Amino acid sequence: MNGKVALVTGGSRGIGRNIAGKLADEGFHVAITYNSNEELAMEVVSELEKSGVKAACYRADISVKDQVDNLFKEIEKDLGTVDILVNNAGITKDNLLIRMSEDDWDSVMDVNLKGAFLTTKAVARGMMKKRYGKIINISSVVGVMGNPGQGNYSASKAGLIGFTKSMARELASRGIRVNAIAPGFISTDMTNGLKDEVKEAMLSNIPLGYFAEPDEVSNLVAFLASEKSDYITGQVIQIDGGMNI
Ligand code: NAD
Repeated sequence: MNGKVALVTGGSRGIGRNIAGKLADEGFHVAITYNSNEELAMEVVSELEKSGVKAACYRADISVKDQVDNLFKEIEKDLGTVDILVNNAGITKDNLLIRMSEDDWDSVMDVNLKGAFLTTKAVARGMMKKRYGKIINISSVVGVMGNPGQGNYSASKAGLIGFTKSMARELASRGIRVNAIAPGFISTDMTNGLKDEVKEAMLSNIPLGYFAEPDEVSNLVAFLASEKSDYITGQVIQIDGGMNI
């Protein structure tokens, strides 16, 4: 155990679940948020505890300020102040511009971008006091390259990159490092539902020729969460098999 506390938003499934597991293996106490499936979240907590660390789950919609503020109060009571924040929760509501509703735009921006603003604001004060903290934002290669049918998602993920760079500059003097990871295609529920022809088209644009597993992202998160990466801030690190070179 290293005694530090990590929060992984959306940590009950997919990439977030894998990140939570990796951080527990590395000795962090781990808090996860979940949206609706309490049973699944509890299952993840039991799994995390097997690594010998403390773990807890909290129901919270990260796009709602009161819920986010309450989340950090609860974590502080149970585990202590958060040292590592992984902004992983995200949604897609894909459609071509002509068919995209205002709701589809707003909800994606609210979860993917405003959610990260709310959690970062809530965590920053405690990190500033300790003069140490790591914030890791899970963006997307689509936020760098753009993608037809994902105007809302790519804008939110590009926004997250801008936010990452601004926060890295703003918080560096307080010992807080802020970085973004831009994954390409990772096999999870989010991508498994895509049509075969969409997957085939994506595969043809990946020089390494295969889709990645969540482990690839978790290994990088663990590095960025550790002191081994203390001189790295404000970076966007792509894990995309060469999709965007
Ligand atoms: P997923 O759909 O399996 O998981 C998303 C998680 O976010 C879920 O746990 C969900 O409960 C949570 N979430 C959604 N809305 C929320 C809200 N309002 N409040 C709190 N939690 C909420 O997706 P995933 O593939 O594991 O994606 C994780 C992150 O990685 C996302 O930010 C996604 O955009 C990003 N990403 C994924 C891929 C990929 O290929 N899978 C590629 C690039 C980036």
